[in-house]
Amino acid sequence: MTIQEYNFKGKRALIRVDFNVPIDKATKNVSDDTRIRLAIPTIKKVLADGGSVVLMSHMGRPKNCPEEKFSLKQIISSVNNCLGTQIKFVDDCISSESFELSSNLKSGEVLLLENLRFYPGEKKGDNQFAEKLSKHGDVFINDAFGTAHRAHASTTIIANFFPKYKMFGFLIENEIKSVDKLLKSELKPLTAIVGGAKVSSKITIISKLINKVDHLIIGGGMAYTFVKALGGNVGNSLIEDDHMVDALEIIDLAKSKGVKIHLPTDTIIADKFSNAANVKVSDITNIPDGWMGLDISENSIKTFENVIHSSKLILWNGPMGVFEMDAFQKGTSSIAIAVAEATKNGAFSLIGGGDSVAAINKYNLSDQVSHVSTGGGAMLEFLEGKVLPGIDAILN
Ligand code: AMP
Repeated sequence: MTIQEYNFKGKRALIRVDFNVPIDKATKNVSDDTRIRLAIPTIKKVLADGGSVVLMSHMGRPKNCPEEKFSLKQIISSVNNCLGTQIKFVDDCISSESFELSSNLKSGEVLLLENLRFYPGEKKGDNQFAEKLSKHGDVFINDAFGTAHRAHASTTIIANFFPKYKMFGFLIENEIKSVDKLLKSELKPLTAIVGGAKVSSKITIISKLINKVDHLIIGGGMAYTFVKALGGNVGNSLIEDDHMVDALEIIDLAKSKGVKIHLPTDTIIADKFSNAANVKVSDITNIPDGWMGLDISENSIKTFENVIHSSKLILWNGPMGVFEMDAFQKGTSSIAIAVAEATKNGAFSLIGGGDSVAAINKYNLSDQVSHVSTGGGAMLEFLEGKVLPGIDAILN
């Protein structure tokens, strides 16, 4: 059953949202309300049908008991603003007061429950805790993609108590559609751009993608392990010696599958890991000792841009350099712009997982690509082809 098909008139929808938003330490306000805004279409659909809504979420990593700094109380005004209506709040997600409030909700009303992780049963996936939570709704909607890879009480176990009336919200539906589009489309060429710090954290996804992609662009810190494995001198760049074998295996696999791997050829090197470091351009295979590669340089940027511009499907995960520092952000911003340009020319682009999402936001390009995923780890596991428990619980 899809959310679009269902009529919520007179029904209470219990929605698992991902309101794990950052709070500004000084002002105690929500500093980035993206996750709240993205949940609004699902909430509005229920309300527009004449239903009521109970929202549940986690925030941060409390130590299984209430902690003021992780209270969802802090986000009430932000939810009110995004939704354009005043919500109710209860400071314990399974207290008798909470059940009284949720069972008396009128059509058009919204109740937010306090942080689910104030109870240890949430992360443990406790059946009794999930059963209690389930009493808050007639229908269960999962719209929290960021936690869909966790078999927690509110993301997965709870679905057992809604054998008939369980569905995805619009946000998760979009995430699923985007990955399907990327992995099932016959359009070519498909280019994966993988960057970020380490080979070790991306090895699984790369070895899965290699079966599917036409081009694999490798940038960021992980590129230096590939270059060293191929015999280059990478000076003091970030290296994972243990993973040089993996790098060579990927190169061999790519050859056997006809996948073109694009490694950087030139790099911006620095004499220390600092924005204030001395910098120069170097051939990536010949970095002097005492210097480290912290960004890709002009020739590599040009090559990567050309590949991106000729692609019909693009997946991007991980920055090309230490983009948090101005001195080493050009590679990442150039790639972000190239992905936006390719999208404008008709390519489908998915920005998934990790810091590439932060990068695309930093350059204000998130509305110029096809899809920006809300789930870091969840998106990576999904792309790897793993069954996410939160998704499986709705489908089966
Ligand atoms: P990830 O979370 O694996 O996508 O890694 C993102 C991090 O990788 C960012 O914080 C970048 O600063 C870092 N990074 C990218 N390129 C390099 C590099 N050449 N050397 C060290 N760190 C890098």
